[in-house]
Amino acid sequence: MSASIIDGRAIAAQLRSDVQQDVERFVAETGVTPHLSVVLVGENPASQVYVRNKEKFCVAAGMKSTVHRLSAETTQDELLQLVNELNNAEDVHGILVQLPLPSQIDEQAILDAICSEKDVDAFHPHNVGLLVQGRSRFEPCTPAGCLQLIRSVREDISGLHAVVLGRSEIVGKPMSLLLIQRGADCTVTICHSRTKDLAEITKQADILIAAIGKPNFVTADMVKPGAIVIDVGINRVDKKLVGDVDYDAVAEKADAITPVPGGVGPMTIANLLRNSLRAAQMQTQARRQ
Ligand code: NDP
Repeated sequence: MSASIIDGRAIAAQLRSDVQQDVERFVAETGVTPHLSVVLVGENPASQVYVRNKEKFCVAAGMKSTVHRLSAETTQDELLQLVNELNNAEDVHGILVQLPLPSQIDEQAILDAICSEKDVDAFHPHNVGLLVQGRSRFEPCTPAGCLQLIRSVREDISGLHAVVLGRSEIVGKPMSLLLIQRGADCTVTICHSRTKDLAEITKQADILIAAIGKPNFVTADMVKPGAIVIDVGINRVDKKLVGDVDYDAVAEKADAITPVPGGVGPMTIANLLRNSLRAAQMQTQARRQ
């Protein structure tokens, strides 16, 4: 058996095009242009690429994008001051602080300081709490993208066993929350570095999501025949990008699989655009009430 390849580039392009149409309609109705402000601290090369892409796709979707580039020596107080200014700026609807931040800055303190209505990454405790309660206003971008990719293969995933590898705040944990929500209705197992007999668990997965940051970690013998495999990992090996899944071998066993690159990655930005539009819609509506 050879898996069908889930084309994240095409699915993300469709989502971006849907957002673009919604932006056009929103601007025509309200005269307000959704505006995302991105803050980049330091010169991490990967972060610079991510930020450039966010800017490019934001503009292509008809939104305004502003990037604040700060030096690697920026202090926590200076960054907090900028976040506060953006929180108070009426024409800024979304704020994204690109991670990772330099070591002198407490990441959590910065994420906590972003006003939750503008937190388009959905990392603020308020937004995490809403997600836990199944009433999120912003869905976390990467996990939401994974769920859209899964549903592109199989719309009804109710009752399936989903195994999530990784329990980070950015991917693993929110991914699990989306999968157990009503409407998705999966049975979810979350694994991490202390999990015992990992392969015994992954072999039971109808849906396997790998988000651990270890190149080619998931091998074919860890995968149930016919599973849907979503590879979130982005690892650089010999200047090449590879995922957390041993792609060629697993593709022989799975029903569907995401490639790296071209799988989950493009979905993250598409969902960021969707959240930025949502932020502009909510704030505009609140101001007009
Ligand atoms: P983290 O490093 O924050 O978390 C990794 C998780 O994997 C941890 O929960 C860790 O367990 C677990 N883990 C590590 N080793 C093992 C192991 N041997 N067995 C089981 N679990 C293990 O990473 P992120 O969640 O931020 O990112 C994961 C990957 O996804 C990275 O490659 C990252 O680059 C990529 N990524 C891709 C995105 C995209 O848009 N495509 C967006 C975000 C991330 P423990 O908690 O016990 O330490």
